[in-house]
Amino acid sequence: MGKWRTESCEQCGSDFYVREDWERPPRYCKPCREERAAKWYDKSCRHCGGTLRVCVEWDRIPDYHKECAWTEKPCEICGQGIRIHRGWDNPPRRHKECRESVAPKTASCAQCGHLFTISTGTQLRCKENGWGLPTRCPECKHDALLIKGAVGALRDTFRVPLETMIEKRGVFFTDKVAVVRNALNGDILAEVTMDKEGCFSTKRVAVATDARSGDEIARTREGCQGTFVSRRVAETYSSETGDQTHTTKMVEQGMLIRKRFAKTDPVNDVGGSIISRIVKRGWLFRKKVVETDRH
Ligand SMILES: [Zn+2]
Ligand SMILES: [Zn+2]
Ligand SMILES: [Zn+2]
Ligand SMILES: [Zn+2]
Repeated sequence: MGKWRTESCEQCGSDFYVREDWERPPRYCKPCREERAAKWYDKSCRHCGGTLRVCVEWDRIPDYHKECAWTEKPCEICGQGIRIHRGWDNPPRRHKECRESVAPKTASCAQCGHLFTISTGTQLRCKENGWGLPTRCPECKHDALLIKGAVGALRDTFRVPLETMIEKRGVFFTDKVAVVRNALNGDILAEVTMDKEGCFSTKRVAVATDARSGDEIARTREGCQGTFVSRRVAETYSSETGDQTHTTKMVEQGMLIRKRFAKTDPVNDVGGSIISRIVKRGWLFRKKVVETDRH
């Protein structure tokens, strides 16, 4: 039997007995030990469900084991891991640097020169699909289909292959002008300008005018097609009768190199489809020309 000796409690300082042969004598007296033990309790880890021993006096009571708290999720932009604490309400989905690399950008429109913003969403979509960033402002892009629709329909008015130059819209001229020529001899046949329609002047419309007589030939407006997935189409109406004559939509073709072109179909189905595609011309000064013909 070992001997007893006194030890002083680290918490309250009072003396208590310990046996001399105890390897690890208690540091606190019995009342203090009981008080301390009451402050500890078990809870279950929110990740693994295992036991987590915590003390009420801690400033922050953890919900996870240390080794359970952290996880890694792939960054939405670069795919590399991001360290995420399971307790975070809004865990980051992108690295900070990655996020900054796709912050909204200001670009100047290749067609009209106006500044426009390329949103983060657009940049991500381009990245995902391997596309280049848009070079035209939304308005020019929006007008392009209407202009192609107007030009496509003109193929049935003039009955010759057409060649159209889309002129740069100046800062002072808000109407984009397309000059439509006879592809065979270069004669100017018509002009297409952009205008606004409707009581609030919100709908943009492409107006085709005969270059010789100055008479309005047709108006091309935006329409929608499709039941489940609606797609933008351009609808051309004769200015003489007011009846719809053509519908134009963008079509993609090609396996490896996808080519986009506008396909204009006469409403009465006479004559078949008219194709308008952009080609680049010139060596020193490359110009974009829209070629329009039946194929
Ligand atoms: Zn004590
Ligand atoms: Zn755990
Ligand atoms: Zn990243
Ligand atoms: Zn523009």
